[in-house]
Amino acid sequence: MAYMRYEIVAEAYRDMEQAAGRLALVDRMAALLAQTPAALLPTVCYLCQGLIAPEFAGVDLGLAEKLAVRAVAAAAAVGPEQVTAMLRETGDLGQAAEQLLAARGGRPASLQVAEVVGILHQIAAAEGPGSQGRKLDLLAGLLDRATPLEARYLLRLVTKGLRLGVGTPTILDSLALVYAGGRGARPVLERAYNICSDLGRVAAVLAEGGLAAVEGLHVQPGNPVRAMLAQRLSDGPEILAKLGGRCAAEYKYDGVRVQAHRTADGNIELFTRRLERVATQFPDVVELLREGLVPGEAIVEGEVVAFDPAAGELRPFQEVMFRRRKYGIAEAVRDVPVGLFCFELLYADGQDLTTLPYPERRAALAEAIAVSPRLRLTTATEVSSADGLEAAFEQAVTDGCEGLVCKSVSPASVYQAGARGWLWIKLKRDYRTELSDTVDLVVVGAFYGRGRRRGGYGALLLAAYDPAADVFPTVTRCGTGFSDADLAALPARLAPLARGERPARVYAWQEPDVWFEPGMVLEILSAELTLSPNYTAAWGQVKQDAGLAMRFPRFTGRWRDDKSPEDATTTTELIELYRTARRAQR
Ligand code: ATP
Repeated sequence: MAYMRYEIVAEAYRDMEQAAGRLALVDRMAALLAQTPAALLPTVCYLCQGLIAPEFAGVDLGLAEKLAVRAVAAAAAVGPEQVTAMLRETGDLGQAAEQLLAARGGRPASLQVAEVVGILHQIAAAEGPGSQGRKLDLLAGLLDRATPLEARYLLRLVTKGLRLGVGTPTILDSLALVYAGGRGARPVLERAYNICSDLGRVAAVLAEGGLAAVEGLHVQPGNPVRAMLAQRLSDGPEILAKLGGRCAAEYKYDGVRVQAHRTADGNIELFTRRLERVATQFPDVVELLREGLVPGEAIVEGEVVAFDPAAGELRPFQEVMFRRRKYGIAEAVRDVPVGLFCFELLYADGQDLTTLPYPERRAALAEAIAVSPRLRLTTATEVSSADGLEAAFEQAVTDGCEGLVCKSVSPASVYQAGARGWLWIKLKRDYRTELSDTVDLVVVGAFYGRGRRRGGYGALLLAAYDPAADVFPTVTRCGTGFSDADLAALPARLAPLARGERPARVYAWQEPDVWFEPGMVLEILSAELTLSPNYTAAWGQVKQDAGLAMRFPRFTGRWRDDKSPEDATTTTELIELYRTARRAQR
């Protein structure tokens, strides 16, 4: 058992919070790591990330603020309202706790790092009936023994507010300084981190075996590999030039990227790009892999896409997002079938493939997947001319994809974990049509959400402005692009505009759950405009008995509070955009 007082960590946090620049930060972090016994090094690295286990372990500390307030009140022997008042004054529960505990009379530092982390694990693990009370007791007990400074950081840790400004690169720099003779070693450590996503593991291997041992680390099922990402360009010839005149043009499917791991025990786990575990959300994908993944141990990557097996058609992104939910999974699996389109094989039965060039990985992938209607490889064609690339792009779009990911086929085309480099270049329709310009649309209605969005709005009915008639005809409904915070804010923001009946200046065929007086303007990005009998914008102006509809719209995150509804995009502009896009397609 290695000993280290938690106070040492808290003091380092305090100094790092006040550090004047990045160099000072690295130095202070290095001093902390140098002081840390090797056995506690992984733990202290996680603590500096604001975690108690690697990110992908999915250990959720996040305590509700209310509960944390009660724990502080119990430890400081004051009423919760006093804590809340102090919280309001300081704006930070950590500081509030620090001050209240100091007023109570400080405790001598006695907490050990291992002990603190052990209790935090118990807090995270408590679930089921009575778990809130248990979490409260455990935290209050910990705070009761903490110094005021320790309490400050414990609270920030449990409420996820630990922002020291230390990112992973800073911690890697500090590790390199202490254990590898200087920051020159950082790329080696970074590569190791990118292939195992576990800073504690990198630190442990480094402390034990030095840089050579870190260099010898390989990808391993169970540890998610940080995703390789793509650059973007909008011009085919330029893409070819970047890739040396030749590339593999792969369809770019619009879904959720997953990395599937089958470990030696046969278990299959799915990780998202943000390292969340989602196997429970996609039991059908797990089943597909159980049947179609050939190697016993493997890491494959692919895009989960909503897919209509009867029609053999890809469905838009919104549908697969319906599958990102905690409850009602069986129904969602039934209502929204998905397919997995695989594009990478990173590991198979003892072999790390990340250092092989793309063509070899792709060939191995073809061997590793027994394809079925819903488990496939991404469509890929090798192209070596601008015309060939253009044809592949057109075909991808016709088949319902966003565009292409053009991949280097050179001998240097390794899998660059965690990097957005030039070995992959994406080419999307959005970058090419006139509609890559955003439009500003007015909210005129809302539909209640389902699933994850139950209780709020799931989609908004949006309108353009027709100045000649001074009406707001509808052009689309949009539920994509909203962050959780945006969604949570919507009902309150829209409440003053809500109406029981269709407002006079709104011109619409469909009946949303709630109508709104035109007042709120949102910036929307859309892939394309089509003719539709369901929307009223420019009704009959392009074609008889049809209006213009926007397909696959997405909120950009910008609330155009600076615009009045009459400043929104006009129907004349929409007609112009529609005609320009059509000309560009010819
Ligand atoms: P975007 O919003 O364009 O998807 P992004 O920032 O999410 O961009 P990028 O790395 O820029 O991600 O684009 C590549 C993404 O496209 C991958 O992360 C993956 O989810 C998706 N994708 C779809 N088809 C493929 C494919 N054939 N090969 C690689 N990635 C693909």
